[in-house]
Amino acid sequence: MNKTRFHQPYFLYLLVITFAGLGLVVVGLIQFPQFNPKSVFLLILALAAFSELTTTIINTPDRGIGFEVGTAVSLALIPLFGPGAAAVAAAVCTLALWFMKIGSRTSWRGNWEPLGFNAGMHSIAIYLAGVVFLSLQQRLDANTLIGQMLPWIVTAVLYDQLNFAMVLVIIRLKQGPKVSPMVMWKENLWAAPINIMILAVGGGALALAVERFGATGITIFFMPIVLSAYAFRLYVSQMKAHMDNLETIVAQRTDELQKAMQEKDAFLAVLTHDMKSPLTSISMYASMLKEFPQIIQQKPHMIDAVLHNQETLTNIVNNILDLEKLKADGQVTMEKVVFDFTSVAERVLNMVQVQAESKSIELTVSGLDRRIFIHADQNHMERILNNLITNAIKYTPANGRVAVTFTTQDHLLILQVQDSGFGIPAEDLPYVFDRFHRVVSHRKLAAGTGLGLAITKALVEAHDGHIEVTSTEGQGSCFTARLPVLPHAPYIQTNASKPSGQKRPQHAVNAA
Ligand code: ADP
Repeated sequence: MNKTRFHQPYFLYLLVITFAGLGLVVVGLIQFPQFNPKSVFLLILALAAFSELTTTIINTPDRGIGFEVGTAVSLALIPLFGPGAAAVAAAVCTLALWFMKIGSRTSWRGNWEPLGFNAGMHSIAIYLAGVVFLSLQQRLDANTLIGQMLPWIVTAVLYDQLNFAMVLVIIRLKQGPKVSPMVMWKENLWAAPINIMILAVGGGALALAVERFGATGITIFFMPIVLSAYAFRLYVSQMKAHMDNLETIVAQRTDELQKAMQEKDAFLAVLTHDMKSPLTSISMYASMLKEFPQIIQQKPHMIDAVLHNQETLTNIVNNILDLEKLKADGQVTMEKVVFDFTSVAERVLNMVQVQAESKSIELTVSGLDRRIFIHADQNHMERILNNLITNAIKYTPANGRVAVTFTTQDHLLILQVQDSGFGIPAEDLPYVFDRFHRVVSHRKLAAGTGLGLAITKALVEAHDGHIEVTSTEGQGSCFTARLPVLPHAPYIQTNASKPSGQKRPQHAVNAA
């Protein structure tokens, strides 16, 4: 043992408590030959040790508060065999608990210091409380209710508070003046009534049982006491599991909330950045045209630039609107009708053709030579096609190629958009369908919100379809969407229900 530790007040105090307690245990052991009957003493001692199994430890920030029936059983020894016998039982209970390791705060197994201190502390407290008990019993009339109850209540309060005082001193000596005894006492006050009740009721009932019915009385009274303690322990552990579960849920929700806040921040950053530059160009060109209307003759491309910027803004706004439509749970609101997919495809292709031409990108289309009937939301189909083809053009350098193919196989429409563009780095591929994800190197190449593909995927899946991507950085990407189609051409009605969007009465038909 390290000699310098003897100079530490904490360690000296620990030794004093340990040896003073052991001294009282020795007193009890010396009295053992006079215990009569010894079998009752030994039976109560064994039951006290056994009942430690039901000890409940509730963790507080500074310590673990134990609710032990063992001490209540030990208290029953005071009127029968004196405070020395109770001190022996308190030490035995501490030893039993030491072997059981109940709760995280009792992980002092294998460590002699807490064992010595706890055994000493419990023995001292029970011995002193026992002395007071006996003197009260002598003074009060045993035939009155007060005479029967008061000694137990006072003993229980005294035992509980003495124990707590000794714990307070050791915590104070170990942790220094930052520990306020008064604050700690107040914080732990809630536990005192429970402990006092266990001690007074348990100890009193057992002592009465032994006096009236001998060894049989102990066994009969012991059962309900120990079962109630066990029920309390089960209740506390259930509550703890419930609280842990709640804590996990709160942590998860906090994570989700933080993620949502980050997404919102990223979204706002994207918005301010990507909407600002087209707006600046539009306002710049508009001011020039206002001031020098004749400039349009010399620089007609200014109009194209304004239109292009307007298109970029429209795209961004459309994506935001689509995102709004996607409910929080990923559900999509749809207006499904049966229609010919090729007509929608042609319309989208007409729109994107201009973008392809402005970059001299060769846009080829195949598979639109027959009708493909589908039961879907027309606007959604337009968005899917438009997003995939616009992306292909956006992320392909000038003079590149974009090929769009439509094939049908096993009641599925396979829509493929292949480009010869920048491609997607392998590490980004798993995330391209995530909201706000943009390949870092693409940010300076094209404006965007990182929402298009997330929306596209949600729309495809809302139609029981599937979308995937393959890509090689520097060579190009290929997006493949599979959507269920109708096996046969449906019966066409002339007054077909018209979906929102552009008018195409000749193609829109009702589900057969
Ligand atoms: P954005 O508005 O940024 O285009 P998207 O959700 O449509 O948002 O796309 C997400 C990211 O995926 C893009 O920023 C880009 O980095 C990458 N990406 C999408 N389509 C292509 C493509 N055809 N070729 C290369 N990269 C692409």
